[in-house]
Parts: sequence; C-alpha cells; structure tokens
Amino acid sequence: MNAAVSDTLILGSGPAGLMTAILLAAEGRQVTLVDRDPPPPKGKADDLYAGWKRLGVRQFSQAHLLLPGGFRLLAKESPESVDRMLDLGAVSHNIIAGAWHVGAIDGPREDDGRFETVAVRRPVLEASLLAVAEGHPGITVRRGLRVNRLKTEKPRAGHCRRVRGVACEGGEEINAELVVDASGRGASGAAMLRDVGLAPYEQRAEAGFRYYTRFFRSEYLASRLPPWAGFQHDSVSILVLPGDSGTWSVTFVTSDRDQELRGLSNRDAWHRAIQLYPTEAHWAEGKPVTDVIATGGLRSAHRCLVVAGEPVVTGIVAVGDAWASTNPFFGAGMTTAFRHAALLRDTMRLVDTRDALAFSMTFAAATERHLLPLWRGFNDWDRHRLAEVDHEMTGRRYTTDDPFWQKRVALEAARAKDPDVLRAAADISGLLAGPEVLARPSIKERIAALSAGASRYHYPGPVRGELLAAVTAG
Ligand SMILES: Cc1cc2nc3c(=O)[nH]c(=O)nc-3n(C[C@H](O)[C@H](O)[C@H](O)COP(=O)(O)OP(=O)(O)OC[C@H]3O[C@@H](n4cnc5c(N)ncnc54)[C@H](O)[C@@H]3O)c2cc1C
Repeated sequence: MNAAVSDTLILGSGPAGLMTAILLAAEGRQVTLVDRDPPPPKGKADDLYAGWKRLGVRQFSQAHLLLPGGFRLLAKESPESVDRMLDLGAVSHNIIAGAWHVGAIDGPREDDGRFETVAVRRPVLEASLLAVAEGHPGITVRRGLRVNRLKTEKPRAGHCRRVRGVACEGGEEINAELVVDASGRGASGAAMLRDVGLAPYEQRAEAGFRYYTRFFRSEYLASRLPPWAGFQHDSVSILVLPGDSGTWSVTFVTSDRDQELRGLSNRDAWHRAIQLYPTEAHWAEGKPVTDVIATGGLRSAHRCLVVAGEPVVTGIVAVGDAWASTNPFFGAGMTTAFRHAALLRDTMRLVDTRDALAFSMTFAAATERHLLPLWRGFNDWDRHRLAEVDHEMTGRRYTTDDPFWQKRVALEAARAKDPDVLRAAADISGLLAGPEVLARPSIKERIAALSAGASRYHYPGPVRGELLAAVTAG
C-alpha cells in the first residue's frame, strides 16, 4: 500500500495535539492529526458533554479548569478558539474573584485581570479547538483512526533509529518528517517505541490519587464562586471548579490506596459525605447534571526520549501528557500541554526538523529547561500529600523537615489573610509565575508571620471516622 505523506503527523488530538497542530500550521507546516476517537456530535455544550464518546481519554468528562497561564497563551495564539468557547456558553472566570469578598483581601485590584480564564467543560474546550484546527487549510484531521505502529528506518552505523511515520489500523500508512506523540496519559506512543525494541526513559510514581466528581447546574450558584478551587481536609481534598452554561463540578480527591472511601462512587454516599463539609456542602445543592464520575490511577509519570545525553530515537517527540503527567489537583495539564506545543513551535523556528538528531536534542533540552522543573514541583507536592493522607488514614499527623512542603503549607495558610500573599499564591497556582514571586518585598516574612501557629486544615470537616460512617451508612 502506498503511504500518504505529511510533513508533521500528530498522534492524538487532545489539547496537546490540537494546540500543536494550530501552532505548526500557522508556521506553514502541513499537519495531519490522527485520533482513534470519533468526531464530536453536532449541537450545543450539553450535547458535546453528554454525547462525545472518548474512550481514548479516561478523564474526558472529569472536572477541568484551564489555568490563567494556559488561557493567556490560548487567547494570544488562537483567539478564535476562545470565541468559539464563549459562543458555546463558556464564561470569563477570574480565579481570585471568589476571594475578593474575604475581609482581609479587601476587594479587586486594577491588575487582577491577569487571573482571568474561561470556565468551560473539557469537551466544550476541545471541540472549540478542534473546529479551529479543522478550518485551517494546513491541517488534515483524521478521527476514528487508531495508530497501531511506528514506522522506523534501520539505523546507519553509529546512529540511532529514526521514526518515519505511522501505520494505522486497517493497514493505512502515513509517512512524516516528524511524528509528534500527543497520545496522552496512556502513552501509546511510548508503548509503540517499546514494541520496536526502543526504551525511552520512564519514571512512574508508585501511588496516585482518585477523583469522585459530580457536575451540577444552577445559574444562581454558578455565579457565586468559592474563594478558591481547592480545599484541603485531612484524608480528602475537595475541588469546586466552574464550568460553562451554568454548570460546575464538585470533586472528592482521595488517595488511590484509600479502599475505605471507594464507596464515594455511590451517589448517596457521596452526598452524605459532602454534607459533612460546611464550607463546600452547598455546592452540591444545584441540579445534578451527572452521576458520580470516578477516575483512579492518577499517578505522576515522566518520559524522555534522550537517555544519558543520547537520543533513543529521532523523528519523534512527545508533548503534553505523553511526555509527563501528574496528579491533576492543580489543573496544570492543559496549560503545560499548550506551553509544550509552543516550545515545539519555537524549537522548529531554531532548528530544521530535517536535522533529526539536532532537533530531538534541542527540543529535549528545551523541555527539560522550561517544563521539567514545573513537573518536579507537582511531583514533590503529590509525594508529600500522599504521605500526609496515608498518615491521616491511620490517625497520625504527617511531619517532614522538607522545606518545599513546609513552604507550600505555609503559603496555603497565609493566602486568605493578606492581599499580596493571595496574589503571589494565585500567580503561582495560575501558572503565571514561578516560586520566585515569593521573594517579592516582605512576602516571605508575611507568609511566615501569618502561617505561624495556623492549623493544617483551615476548613471545618468531619474526623475520619465520621466520614467513613457517612460513606458506609445506608
Ligand atoms: C481527573 C483529571 C482531572 C484533570 N483536571 C484538569 C484540570 O482541571 N485542568 C487541566 O489543565 N488539566 C486537567 N487534567 C489534565 C488534562 O486532562 C490533561 O493534561 C490533558 O488531557 C492532556 O492532553 P493531551 O492532549 O496530552 O492528552 P489527552 O487529552 O489524553 O489526548 C490524547 C489523545 O490521543 C488519542 N490517542 C491515544 N492513543 C492513540 C492511538 N494509538 N491512535 C490514535 N489516537 C490515539 C486519544 O484518543 C486522545 O484523544 C486532568 C486530568 C485528569 C486525569
């Protein structure tokens, strides 16, 4: 069979693949985007949410928020995508707006616009990007087509193997100068490399988290936001994220190892449990849009195609979750994916993809420099939080002398008490700035003073025994 030819083949059409396609096509590249899942149904936001079957993305219906850092990049690079989301019912959302009414924060400031994003459910966001990609003459979208195998070229002596394209189910082949693996958490691109005897570096955490989410709707409640999205309690965290069209989600985040709380996937148990948290309980009073959506196995993973300074393979790079993923509690996945796509575009401006070795090495180095520190920070947080939850599950209090965790806990305790600390925390959590903002004048001192003696968990909630009793009752 003759192979079709594309100069860039993108394996996977999630946020990473779509953003990569849009950015590379804008540079004049001919891009083919292949995804195993079907196209979206026609219709409005609710039709997209309920009707788009995405077996290739386990978290497709889960709670998602695009952070301001990702929104800013999207609005700059693809404003049409944002317009489409707004047309479909997405709404502007400022991640600190809910905190403006907190006494110590003292209302909005002129430069709070940087904390803006869009509140939009994941299928609506993705359908908007897809529509923009499909409208671009440089992008060919192939949906419902699974990539089964990578086509590689025999290496010349002293060189590593080079990927030359992909083979799809049904036998279709597509050759490409560059294959971009955007296959998501499942990392099917890395598995295909292993199938041909290549071994990318891979680091996976031993344990992870589990989400139990329900979506609700009420125009009234949707416009009254909590002061922040995430609330830490002893052995659970609770996330409240805004969506489009008057919807929002409420999520219990537990350790994946917490078998005793698996009952949260039952709707009645979930409701009995949320009633025990006075700060968050009223968020479960809207009209339910979904049953409980449970997603487990949320472990950090990081892969790299350059090992000990040598590329394992050339002609292929990984972006987004196919490169690295973490516990999604901080909602950084799509923003990281967008940044990674922009980094790939920027690397292409510097290095010709025909020089496959130089291209692979330059992109790997750029990824390591710009994105790996972020992933390491999330991974460290996950490790400590899981250790903390493990302790709480057995009635013990977690302590560590790791300054990383102590600083994060102190920042969390101080953010509601000082308007500058709040904004420093939001700059970090919105992925607008790194931890260097904590070096702003007097911030460090104020965090230390405001967090001294603060209890670890600031919001009222049940002790573990009461929570378990609620989950198992009935
Ligand atoms: C529970 C949960 C909650 C989350 N919440 C947030 C949040 O609030 N904010 C945020 O920014 N991020 C969040 N994330 C992370 C976010 O979902 C991911 O970072 C994002 O989906 C990454 O996009 P991606 O394009 O890399 O991968 P994916 O979205 O997984 O897309 C991969 C695509 O590749 C396709 N594919 C895979 N293998 C093949 C193959 N062999 N052939 C053809 N196609 C293939 C799949 O069908 C899929 O469409 C969350 C994740 C989870 C698990």
